[in-house]
Amino acid sequence: MLTLSNLTTTYGPVRALDSVDLTVETGRITAVLGANGAGKTSLLRTVSGLVRPATGTVTLDGTDITGAPVESMVHRGMAHVPEGRGVIAELTVEENLRLGARGAAKRPSDAPAPVRTLDDAYRLFPVLGDRRNAQAHTLSGGERQMLVIARALLSRPTLLLLDEPSLGLAPRIVAQIFDLLRTLVADSGLTVLLVEQNARSALSIAHTGVVLNLGKVVVTESAEVLRNDATLRHSYLGF
Ligand code: ATP
Repeated sequence: MLTLSNLTTTYGPVRALDSVDLTVETGRITAVLGANGAGKTSLLRTVSGLVRPATGTVTLDGTDITGAPVESMVHRGMAHVPEGRGVIAELTVEENLRLGARGAAKRPSDAPAPVRTLDDAYRLFPVLGDRRNAQAHTLSGGERQMLVIARALLSRPTLLLLDEPSLGLAPRIVAQIFDLLRTLVADSGLTVLLVEQNARSALSIAHTGVVLNLGKVVVTESAEVLRNDATLRHSYLGF
């Protein structure tokens, strides 16, 4: 459904992405792995239109969306959860979620979506229901991560772009969030492009793993092969 073809993104002299080819299959989790500075965030930002590539194309469901304005992202069925868990700190959990739900107005009303209402979001993330009237700045890191994912899902995307959701979270919380993502994708057919430095956790739920190094794709494999091949893991993933 999402295809990147010969994609190169530069910041002045820096080549953050260098001739990247990648296919993200519908209803699957594709994990983009790699060290700090490998180009993972640039890849997501190029897909969602936050930065324009120097060359190459981004195709979504057969439509060339290269360089399309970022404002059209929600309408095209994409939701981007950037690194950093940005929420509006003074607003409550529910008020933050309502902001995400506003995006849904730009989507066809019959668009399939696992999370259509606030109640759906609270069923998926019960802790957010418990804390619906709490100001967002009082949440823990894990709760905040759940909030930004729930907020993104309320815009009814078919493609969810997630940047480093595990960063700084305790392993138990990471496992909880990743299990939820796995179930969501299995049950709803949502497509997820997951950027992670935490390769071990990402590969535990991904179908496909892609390793970036200095902006280039150096490995594309099924997650199962990457999990089981010690040589690949040691060479590229450090575990
Ligand atoms: P991280 O895990 O640190 O976010 P990453 O794999 O996501 O790393 P990117 O953030 O995409 O990598 O960075 C790729 C390269 O582009 C790095 O060399 C980085 O320093 C550079 N870069 C990223 N953003 C900018 C920018 N706005 N201006 C200049 N250089 C940038």
